[in-house]
Amino acid sequence: MKTLLKEFSDIYEIFDLQRFTANQWRTSTKKERSDRIQKLENWISSHRKEIQNALWEDFKKPPLETDFSEIYPVTSEINHNLKNLGKWMKAKSVSTPVNMLGTKSIIIPEPKGTSLIISPWNYPFNLAIGPLVSALAAGCTAIIKPSELTSATSALIEKMIGELFKPEEVCVMNGGVEVAQALLELPFDHIFFTGSPKVGKIVMENASKNLSSVTLELGGKSPTIITKSANVSDAARKIAFGKFVNCGQTCVAPDYILVHKDQYEPLIAELKLAIRDMYDPNHKGIENSKDLARIIDPRHFARIKGLLQDALEKGAKLEFGGGSVENERYLEPTIVTGIKSDMEIFEEEIFGPILPIIPFDTIQECITLINSKPKPLALYIFDQEKEHQEILQKTSSGNVVINDCVLHFLHQNIPFGGVGNSGLGKTHGHAGFLAFTHEKGVLKQRIGLNNVSLLRPPYGNVAKKIVDSLIKWL
Ligand code: NAD
Repeated sequence: MKTLLKEFSDIYEIFDLQRFTANQWRTSTKKERSDRIQKLENWISSHRKEIQNALWEDFKKPPLETDFSEIYPVTSEINHNLKNLGKWMKAKSVSTPVNMLGTKSIIIPEPKGTSLIISPWNYPFNLAIGPLVSALAAGCTAIIKPSELTSATSALIEKMIGELFKPEEVCVMNGGVEVAQALLELPFDHIFFTGSPKVGKIVMENASKNLSSVTLELGGKSPTIITKSANVSDAARKIAFGKFVNCGQTCVAPDYILVHKDQYEPLIAELKLAIRDMYDPNHKGIENSKDLARIIDPRHFARIKGLLQDALEKGAKLEFGGGSVENERYLEPTIVTGIKSDMEIFEEEIFGPILPIIPFDTIQECITLINSKPKPLALYIFDQEKEHQEILQKTSSGNVVINDCVLHFLHQNIPFGGVGNSGLGKTHGHAGFLAFTHEKGVLKQRIGLNNVSLLRPPYGNVAKKIVDSLIKWL
């Protein structure tokens, strides 16, 4: 193997063992796969407090938020897989077109084999174990490389997997970028990456060397449109939750708001109310709320503060918030207006608790703006008339939610993922199963004479007539 792998010989060894297991798991039954997934659920149920504590240690994530945004998405994914696995694993017969008369064909969903899961820090449990559920359901082995920024959660994930699986089945490789780079040299059958578009490109470039297939769950700036007919009070409450949960460090958080000019003032007023109701109901100061997580590390803290400072220096108006406590990595939910195109906040994914609000006159302005930027992971439209239909038709985004935000992440029948700059491939439910599955088409021909045998050389009139008819009619 190449240079880096010499320093990481254990990675190479485990990968080789997993290749052997993956071949054995090709024939694993529904029961065997279900048992592997069920083990995860049992462990999670009996270690809920430990998971909450790890997330609290990493960035003071409120335990209830851990319950509904780290644990529940995984347990519901497990239950959905357990319920549907039998159906998904079945070979499907396909109808026979006229040109194939006499043959029979099926599609067999076969496990891709070995898989690598590289996960980010922002939902460190959910985004490492969620894809693992899909990998195991599909019959794949997995090496997981959790984020180095959430040391407590990543260590817990390693402990969990160590207790449940042999390294040749599922294994956790903790460490920094160098571990991810060493892993990316290996010829995995599938790489499932969740993280930034910048690193997504590196992953895809590395995967191309081995022609490994990839799922890239990336980020970007998800716009939120408030039309003239939207119910502003309802929208403000939903947006405030979707934006500030996890302290704004959510891939599908509303990144910026485009609001019809008639709704501009009411929206700002309603958002202020919504933020206070959520994080300061007793007027003791938002910084004292136990329900607001902290920024993951000093680098991101400085980055987000820098975005705000740059905007304010270039003329943005602080409508709400702006407060911070550096040694706590606390950033107050913040609303800014007066956004201009030369501000960094207008270009970079914010990934923190700052919400820029931009007024518009016509829906066409929103469409033009969205289409001028890389395709977003999510698009949210608050609308009580039909304006969302035009936006739906004329823009492209990973997913769309109308009259809410973020919620689609929990809907297992909606393939979750981005498009273009926000990602490649889909996950959750059946889409997640398919990400780790190769759909193998199998055609069975009958013995002896068949319609294709008439086409063999020496080519004569009969063959010519058949080909002419094929071209003309089929
Ligand atoms: P990141 O891209 O910096 O890191 C993700 C993972 O990649 C980590 O495990 C890290 O160790 C590894 N990594 C970093 N540099 C690498 C390199 N040069 N080579 C190989 N591996 C490398 O992302 P992050 O900061 O952890 O997460 C934030 C980003 O993830 C945001 O853009 C966010 O929108 C996106 N995200 C997307 C989803 C989704 O489901 N689409 C979910 C969560 C986060």
